[in-house]
Amino acid sequence: MPAQNFTPPRRLLLGPGPSMVHQQVLRALSTPLLGHLDPAFLAIMDDIQARLRGVFQTKNHFTIAISGTGSAGMEASIVNIVEPGDTVIVGVNGLFGTRLATIVERCGGKAVRVEAPWGQIVEPEAIETALRRSGPTKAVAIVHAETSTGAWQPLEPIAQLCRDHDTLFIVDAVTSLGGAPVEIDRLGIDVCYSATQKCLSCPPGLSPFTLSDRALAAIKARRSPCQSWYLDMALIAEYWAEGARAYHHTAPISMLYALREALRLVEEEGLPARFARHQLNSEALIAGLIELGLFPLPPAGHRLPMLTCVTVPHPIPEAEVRADLLSTYGIEIGGGLGPLKGKVWRIGLMGESSTEAHVLTLLNALEQLFIRGGGLSTPGVALQAAARVYSRRAS
Ligand SMILES: *Cc1c(COP(=O)(O)O)cnc(C)c1O
Repeated sequence: MPAQNFTPPRRLLLGPGPSMVHQQVLRALSTPLLGHLDPAFLAIMDDIQARLRGVFQTKNHFTIAISGTGSAGMEASIVNIVEPGDTVIVGVNGLFGTRLATIVERCGGKAVRVEAPWGQIVEPEAIETALRRSGPTKAVAIVHAETSTGAWQPLEPIAQLCRDHDTLFIVDAVTSLGGAPVEIDRLGIDVCYSATQKCLSCPPGLSPFTLSDRALAAIKARRSPCQSWYLDMALIAEYWAEGARAYHHTAPISMLYALREALRLVEEEGLPARFARHQLNSEALIAGLIELGLFPLPPAGHRLPMLTCVTVPHPIPEAEVRADLLSTYGIEIGGGLGPLKGKVWRIGLMGESSTEAHVLTLLNALEQLFIRGGGLSTPGVALQAAARVYSRRAS
């Protein structure tokens, strides 16, 4: 039998990533290839670097897109900075902080875990205590937007502590970049990585990455070569840094086209407008969810604008409703990870996914499913609560 063409079913992606992708980004993906050393392609790389500096709010010369998903950026951050015997303080309040600590240990480093319950932030005071007790510390690593819990970690006080203790500051901005401020230079973040498929609304496959001069100096001063050859930034620099452009590995050409277009769209909207859009849509979503008895896990003030994690109370059949959302309405949302498995929903309003229309579509679908399940007697409450948020903002 001849193989059939694959046409993906229609989906509204409102999970923890990937997010919806703009038509123009999809179109950029399908444009003809250039060689990765073609002058025309090198110009695209320069352009991407400049736009990445814009979204990271940095002047860092070393600002690139790593070939690989966000996890490649996470791994690159640790393997380039951490040498055997180095102490790294890691904030652990969800899945991604847990992974950072694991990678530190795989590099032969000592991970000092500063833990907080899933859904809470890591208190800066706890980081300070760890810095005082741990002796010489190479770096502090923390997750800005914990996608596994919806917690929004304040960075400024920790950045200050890192300055005071002459320690490098490593930040996971995978979910926050392009949806909330990631102010590399103003805060003094030394190493930061992200991913394309969250608030940048590009397919997965690249990891925006930036290094401060302090971080570059630390990499230069290493006693041992980076344990990863593929992610060795000293080698990658020779391709991305202007001038040399020496072959290291073949750049993912089409993905870079897509990223360039996605960054252009971010720029067209403007960062302040983009951040405000994410904030407004999350407020409307939360107002609606609360009417359905679904309360955010993180406390007010520490809730991410691009990822809302709500507790699903008994007797709502968590997995069943999620499956119905997908099969009946074509809407994807996320379930819980680790200790939160079966207990929460994670709703992403990232990049192109963050619109009023999507918020109302999801709330309506949830209302319909709850009515069918016998758990909602007054239809329209969630939609009205969300609509009130929008009309308040419009007036
Ligand atoms: C998604 C995510 C990652 C991992 O990114 P991948 O693209 O899945 O490899 C790392 N950190 C955080 C906070 C994330 O949300």
